Amino acid sequence: DRVLIGNKVSEGHVNFIIAYNMLTGIRVAVSRCSGIMKPLTPVDFKFTKKLAFDYHGNELTPSSQYAFKFKDYSPEVFRELRAMFGLDPADYLVSLTSRYVLSELNSPGKSGSFFYFSRDYKYIIKTIHHAEHVHLRRHLHAYYTHIKENPDTMICQFYGLHRVKMPISFQNKVKHRKIYFLVMNNLFPPHLEMHTTFDLKGSTWGRVTKIDPEKAKDEAYRPVLKDVNWLEREERIEFGPLKKKKFLQQLKKDVELLARLNIMDYSLLLGIHDMNKAREEEDLELPDGPIPAGHSEGTSGVPTGPVIPHYFKEFEGGIRSSDTFNNDTDLIYYVGIIDCLTNYSFLKKLETFWRSLSHDLKVVSAVPPKDYADRFYEFIADSVSALPPTRYRDNPDVPD
Ligand code: ATP
Ligand code: CA
Ligand code: CA
Repeated sequence: DRVLIGNKVSEGHVNFIIAYNMLTGIRVAVSRCSGIMKPLTPVDFKFTKKLAFDYHGNELTPSSQYAFKFKDYSPEVFRELRAMFGLDPADYLVSLTSRYVLSELNSPGKSGSFFYFSRDYKYIIKTIHHAEHVHLRRHLHAYYTHIKENPDTMICQFYGLHRVKMPISFQNKVKHRKIYFLVMNNLFPPHLEMHTTFDLKGSTWGRVTKIDPEKAKDEAYRPVLKDVNWLEREERIEFGPLKKKKFLQQLKKDVELLARLNIMDYSLLLGIHDMNKAREEEDLELPDGPIPAGHSEGTSGVPTGPVIPHYFKEFEGGIRSSDTFNNDTDLIYYVGIIDCLTNYSFLKKLETFWRSLSHDLKVVSAVPPKDYADRFYEFIADSVSALPPTRYRDNPDVPD
């Protein structure tokens, strides 16, 4: 199967108890919140529910291997959000908690957050800072409204916001630590290969992933690339005029919301699945004879069937590339705006101040939210273009 990033978090792993407690808390909290859905009221947005777990258990919480406290934020709101995102409540619980195994992503960011994948890689748990948690709570209503009004939004899907409070020993002292975390979607379908991945902010300041030429020889080496790599490779999001218009309209609405909420430092995470490469890879794995007619699409994991009008998210959350004439081409893009809980805080203001002394604001990453949004939008808008299908130019079978 495809190579997945991450280490199994099983018993004995340093973070096993934290992960175990997170999942135990989610399991109990989410299954408790299962009655009839009532229209949300302002109280639901502020509401929190605390649960205390220990070895003995009680009438409210089952016994747990470790003692810890769990806090669930706005459970009814997140329940409705999950429904809006089309999640099945039972599936959600099973994916997250059927067995206590998660995979920990190897230090993806600088922020110190931990990332865990659910067993089936559909969901990601991200630990967040207190300030990010405050920000999400404060703007939950605005987020909820935006999701409701924009079914095609690219802003990260949040499924739950929780806190675990547990004793952690540090330098021979036991301290009670509060760990805030949220559950979100894995933007990439677990069974599809992402041939290239970009994390784009619209800034060039330090935004490059250095490629180790030795490692690059290995096909499986696919680091997350950044803005400078994007520019160097002259990459494009290939959309015809129709898709381009719809995509940029939504992007604009999304960044306008983020600017209004004083958020910055987010990125567009973009995974590219190349159907041609996927087919080649399949062929390598299936050396015996031709693939039955009509089956080739299916083997690359892309649904076959009637051609539906191209729109957002028709390929398991992905958008298919198209050419100047709005014809489908062979890439599928998985896009989302991630890491969108950073408030333009004092710290960032300070950073802007320091950097503005010696650098042009265009290349600096920490700029005020409105400028950040404009720069982000422009970068992406400049990157979307309906190119003639260059990848076919050398291929005599495909007409120009
Ligand atoms: P920093 O603040 O240093 O940018 P962070 O700890 O806040 O880092 P993120 O920016 O949220 O982390 O994510 C880091 C990386 O993890 C992303 O570049 C991406 O590769 C992966 N990632 C994050 N969220 C998702 C998601 N929803 N789906 C798939 N991959 C994700
Ligand atoms: Ca980030
Ligand atoms: Ca971050």
